[in-house]
Amino acid sequence: MREYLKFYIDGQWAHPLEPKTSEVINPATDQVSGRISMGSAADVDLAVKAARKAFASWSQTRREQRLDLMRAIQSEYDKRQADIGAAITEEMGAPAALANGFHVQLGAGHLATAIEILKEFKFEERRGHTLLARDPIGVCALITPWNWPMNQIAVKVFPALATGNTMVLKPPQLAPYSAQIFAEVLHAAGLPKGVFNLIQGAGSVVGNALSTHPLVDLVSFTGSEFAGVEIAKAAAPTVKRVCQELGGKSANIVLDDANLAANVAGATGGMMVNSGQTCSAGSRLLVPKARMAEAIAAAEKAASEVTVGDPTTEVAMGPVVSKGQYNEIQRYIEIGLAEGATLVAGGPGRPDGLTRGCFVKPTVFANVRNDMRIAREEIFGPVLVIIGYDSLDEAVEIANDSEFGLAGYVNGADPQQCLAVARRLRTGWVSINGGFDFNAPFGGIKKSGNGREWGEFGFHEYVETKAMLEPAPAAP
Ligand code: NAP
Ligand code: MG
Repeated sequence: MREYLKFYIDGQWAHPLEPKTSEVINPATDQVSGRISMGSAADVDLAVKAARKAFASWSQTRREQRLDLMRAIQSEYDKRQADIGAAITEEMGAPAALANGFHVQLGAGHLATAIEILKEFKFEERRGHTLLARDPIGVCALITPWNWPMNQIAVKVFPALATGNTMVLKPPQLAPYSAQIFAEVLHAAGLPKGVFNLIQGAGSVVGNALSTHPLVDLVSFTGSEFAGVEIAKAAAPTVKRVCQELGGKSANIVLDDANLAANVAGATGGMMVNSGQTCSAGSRLLVPKARMAEAIAAAEKAASEVTVGDPTTEVAMGPVVSKGQYNEIQRYIEIGLAEGATLVAGGPGRPDGLTRGCFVKPTVFANVRNDMRIAREEIFGPVLVIIGYDSLDEAVEIANDSEFGLAGYVNGADPQQCLAVARRLRTGWVSINGGFDFNAPFGGIKKSGNGREWGEFGFHEYVETKAMLEPAPAAP
C-alpha cells in the first residue's frame, strides 16, 4: 500500500491544512493500492504564495544556474526510473514494458530536449533599435491528466523551469503516485524552495482554486474539453493566460500506394498501445474503399495478436484507467454496434478469461461512416474505426471533417504526395510514415485546444515578450 499524504510546498513536505484522504484503485485488480491527501483552496493558497515569493529570485537566475539544476534533475530522474515505471503501472495500468519504456523515456526525453534548448534559447533579441526580452510569465498552475502521466508533467514543468517561472502542479487523482516521485526527484536535485510545488486533490477543488487564484499568471491544462472550458471560464476574471491541450479524433490516412496490410496492422497495434488512451491516437483509420476487405482482414489479425492482461506481466495491453472509463468505452462499443458498423474484432465485455479489472477487448469497427458517433467522438479506449474513401480529396475531406484538430497520420510510398496531403490537414501535428521528433511542437487547433508543447515552442508558452525601445541613432 502506498501512502502519499503530504504535499510539496516551499521546499518541504507538508501535511494538508484540512486532513482529508482518498483511495487510489489499481485498475488491473479493482483493489485499493494506496491513499493520497486531498488538497483544499487553503493548501493551494500556501503553495501559490510560496511560488510567488520564489519567483523574485528564480526569474533572475542565469541560464547556467538553471542548466546546472536541470542536469541535477536529470541524474536524480535517472535514479528513480524504475520507481516511476512501477508507479505508472500501478496507478493507470500501463504494462511494465511500456511504463518502464516509453512512459519513463518520454519524461527523460523532454528533460534532455529542454536542456539542449535552454543552452541556446534567445531570452533577448535585437530588432532594429528595440531590444526584445522573453521574460518568464510568473506563477504557473500546471494541471495534468492520467493517460501519459510523466509525459504530461515533463512537457509543462521543464520548459516552465527553464524559462524562469515558478509553479504549482496539480496531478490527476487517478495517477498521483508518479507525480509524487517526480516531486521527490526535484527535491533531491536541490531545486530552490518554492520554485516547484505539488498539491494533490480534485480538479473541482484544487484545480479550480489554482484557476481562480489572483497570484497565478498562467494555467497550462491538459485533459478533457469540459474541464478545459471550465478552467478558461474560471481564469477569465483574473486575466490569466490559459493553455489548453485537449482531446482528438485523429485520422490515419493510408494512401493507395502504401503497403495496406502492413499499415493497417501497424495502425491497429498502435491504437491499442496504452489501451488507446492517447490524445493523439490515430483513432480513425482511412483506407481506400475498394480495399476495405483487405483492411478488415489485416485489422482482424492484428487485433487478435494483442495480448491483454495483468500489466505486471508481458502483455501488450493492460486495463483502462478506471471503472468510469471502462463503462464509457463499453457504451461506445454498444453505440458502434447500434449504428450498424461492422465489428471486426473485440466487442462488449472483458476479454475471455479476465474476470476482474478494467480490461477492454481490443476492438475494431469497419465500414464506419464519418457521421457515426464512433467516428466523431473521442472514445479514449482501445477502439479503432476504419472508414473507406474513394479519392484523395475525399480522404482529406473526411480527415478534416471533425470538431477536433490535434494530430494526423499519412502513410504512403511517395514522400512528396504524403507531404502534399499533410499540408492539407487541419491539425496541429502530422506524422508522416511514423515520423517522431521531441523538438516538433505538439498541440491542436479547433476543439483540440490552443497550446503548443514540446521543444522550443513549449518554451514560448511560458514567456511574455517585453519590448525595450531605445532612441533611434541620430542620422550621421
Ligand atoms: P480531465 O477530467 O479533464 O482531467 C484532467 C485534469 O484536470 C485532472 O487533473 C483533473 O482533476 C483536472 N480537472 C478536472 N476538472 C477540473 C476543473 N473544473 N478545474 C480544474 N481542473 C480540473 O481529463 P482526463 O479525463 O483526466 O483526461 C482525458 C482527456 O485528456 C482526453 O480528452 C484526452 O484527449 C485529453 N488529453 C489531451 C492531451 C493533449 O496533449 N492534447 C494529452 C493527454 C490527454 P481530477 O484529478 O479531479 O480528475
Ligand atoms: Mg476526468
